[in-house]
Formats: sequence, structure tokens, C-alpha cells
Amino acid sequence: MTSTTATAEQRYDAALAALADLPSEIEELRSLSEQSLLRINELHAVASRALGAAGAVIAGEVAHRSRPALGMTGLAQRAGFRTPERLLTQTTGATKQQVKTALAAGTLLAEIADDGKVDEVTGEVLAPTQPWLRPVAAAVSARLISTSAAQAIGSGLGCPNSAVTAQQLEVAAARLVGEVIAGLDADRLWKRARDARDELDVAGVKVREAELLEIRGLTHFPLPGGGGKAIWTMDPETYANFTDAYDRSTSPKRGGVRFVSKEQSERAATIASDGRTPVQLASDAFMQLVKLGADANPTCLLGSGAPVIRITVAEEALETGIGFGTIEGHGEPVSIDTVQRLLCSGDSIRIGFDPGGNVLNLESEQRLYSKRQREVLAVKFGGCMDPNCDRPPSWCESHHIKQWVRDKGKTLIENGIPLCKWHHLKYHNEGYEIEVDNDGNYWQIPPRSIDPQQKRVAMPLKSNAIADLWRTRNAS
Ligand SMILES: [Zn+2]
Ligand SMILES: [Zn+2]
Repeated sequence: MTSTTATAEQRYDAALAALADLPSEIEELRSLSEQSLLRINELHAVASRALGAAGAVIAGEVAHRSRPALGMTGLAQRAGFRTPERLLTQTTGATKQQVKTALAAGTLLAEIADDGKVDEVTGEVLAPTQPWLRPVAAAVSARLISTSAAQAIGSGLGCPNSAVTAQQLEVAAARLVGEVIAGLDADRLWKRARDARDELDVAGVKVREAELLEIRGLTHFPLPGGGGKAIWTMDPETYANFTDAYDRSTSPKRGGVRFVSKEQSERAATIASDGRTPVQLASDAFMQLVKLGADANPTCLLGSGAPVIRITVAEEALETGIGFGTIEGHGEPVSIDTVQRLLCSGDSIRIGFDPGGNVLNLESEQRLYSKRQREVLAVKFGGCMDPNCDRPPSWCESHHIKQWVRDKGKTLIENGIPLCKWHHLKYHNEGYEIEVDNDGNYWQIPPRSIDPQQKRVAMPLKSNAIADLWRTRNAS
């Protein structure tokens, strides 16, 4: 190390003098042993990391002295450049990309060094914008990784969001730094960082989904002049179903949909010539739906209803349970648990695509319970089978006890059980299982997270008729 009494300039001069002495003639290297050649190759990499880190610090300081808070009095601005990036490209002859890399690392180092200090211009307490990259900054300072590696980690990992925390990103950043030091090359690094982010996001999808479900709600209040107003906050699945129904009640009016059959086009023409505005139509249509729902036969199990949402999911994700699906048209990710539940009762078909986008196969087996089967299930069970629920069959979906994809369960009466929408969601998301014993009794197996002993809970039938029948049978 150079004496600390020397100024930065003097040390650069000394370093340049030393650099001038580096071998640059191929002749000299030709006479080197293989071992020496590989050794100087390694040393050269260390030297360029040292130069990279030194360059980043310079870029960081130029950026700091040209920060937006300084306005026209900033260093770059006074020199006639709009940004520090322009100044550095012009004065060093480096490419835009090289300057960006140096600036990214330099800004990171400067911000982390200034953490907690007060900006003398704005009076603000400074905080790093990417605190999760601390391990990366430390490794650049220690000349363990290059500034390009730092940039690859930073851009591959991205920023925290409601599902991925800064702490999680910091752990991933530290792991990636370790991999670089262990020899991971720069070409594969960005991909590794991106993969690390995706893994965090997969876990995050479930968290975000639960958060969005938690804030759902429908409220209303009276308007001073009469009438009222409703505010409906929807989770993504509800919103997808809602928009489907909304679009269908209003789209011919907006000229959005082409109708195929004669009947449909006549209906479209009727709606289009209707004097009502689209929002009025929607209001009337939804009230009609509410009335129809209130009139529904309470003894019939909920069918595969009209609104259709499409979810795309990779076959592999479905089978391994790792990954997520996407609500088509909304782009909203949904957890695999949710996809499994929609497959259990919802309106979906399974279509395979090869990587080229060609359709591979169509589902051949019956996955959804037919109307006839749902009638049988409604009579047999009499409503939602959760022990603490009293929802009638009309509120229920038919759940596959042995799940359709996971357990290759069949759509047979003996594999079906009605659960209300809420319990169906809970059973899939939280991992409740159902067991049928040899006497035909149903048992709920709570997940380990709810009951570590997983003690079976009886699920008595909700149908009086069948319960009576059983009592008679057992008495005789
Ligand atoms: Zn189900
Ligand atoms: Zn229920």
C-alpha cells in the first residue's frame, strides 16, 4: 500500500508509473512458464477490479457533486453537461455502458458511505436507495468483485415490493457475491440473480394473494339527495369474474365484441339500440344478477356458473406445486393453490402447448361434476361440509376429495364433497385434507400449521333426510 500521506493525485501518478512497467510485448510472455502466465492472468484480473473500484468511487463522487439538489451549481452542470453521465462519457472516452456500470457502483458506494449523514444542501438525512445491495458494495470496495458483477446482481435482483422484502434481497445479494467469489462468471451471473428473484417472487405470490384477499370488501352509503353508492374492493379473482360479467352486459354497446350466432347478434343489436348508457346497463344487469341469485333454488349445488376467467399455468408448475398461474387479460399472478381450486370446481379447460405454441392435447376426461351429480351431492350432504358452516347447497362448489391434478382424483360421487366458496378457498390454501372411513363417515384433517397433531375432526352430514336414514339403518 502507498503511504497515506500521499495525495490521491500523487498515488495515481505512482500507479501510472508502475503500470507503465507492465509487460506489453508478446515476446516477453512467450518465454513465460505456463504457471507464470496463468498467475499474471489472475493478477491482471485483480488489478482491473482495483481500477474498476477506484473508477466507481470517482464516478460516484462526480455524481454526488452533480446531484439534482445542486441544480445549475452542480459540477457536471457548471462544466456544461446536463448529467454526470454525459461528463464522464465525454471526458473518459468510455462507452455509455461502461460509464453506467461505474456510476451504478459508485452511486451505491457513495450512498452507503453517506448513510445517516445530513445533506448540507437540502438538510435531509441521507439513506441509501438500494440498502439491500450492501454486501455488493462491500465486495466492490474490497476488490473481490468487479463493477460489472455488481451491476448484474443489482439489475437481476430488482427492487423490493409488497411480496419481496429488502432483507430477503440482501440475503440473496450476499449469496450471489459468494458465488462470484467462488468463480461464477459474469455471463451467468445476471441469469442467476434473475432466478433468485423469481424464486422469491413465487413465495411472494402467495403472500401478495393473501394480502389482496384480506382487503376485499363491499360497502355502501346513502347519497344526500336519495339513492346510494357502493364501493367494492376486489381481490384479483373476484375482479376477473366481475369484469367478465360487466363486459358481457355492456360490451355490445361499446362495440367491443363481434357476435357469431344469429341469436347473439340479435341480442347485441337490441343492447346496442338500447337508450341506456353503458354504466346504466351495467347497474341494471348487476341488480338483475342479484335478484336471480336470491331466487336460486337453495337445495341445488352451485353450478359451473356463467362468468369465465382464464388462467394460464405451466403443466410442470401444476404438477410440482412450484410456480404460479396468471389470470389472462389481467396479468395478475395467482398461487398454485388457487389454480388447483379453480380446477376443482371452476370453469377451466386444460390445454397443453409445446414451446412453439402449438396445441398438444385437450382434456379428455370429465373433470367437473355434472348437473345430475351435483343434485346427488346436494341431497347426500345438505350443504357446506365444514363442521362450523351452515351454508346451503346453493352456496357450495363440489370439491374433489382426492384432488384432480395432484392425486389424479376422479369426478365421481364418492370423491365429491360440497364446500362453500369460502371454505373451498380455505381448504385449498391452508392444506386441509378430507378422509372417508370404511363406514362412510367424513373426517377433516387440519394442516400441521393449525394442529401440529393433525387430530381428525368429524364432518357430520348436513342433510336431515340422510342423517335420519343412517340412524334407522344403525338402529336396525
Ligand atoms: Zn377443491
Ligand atoms: Zn362453508
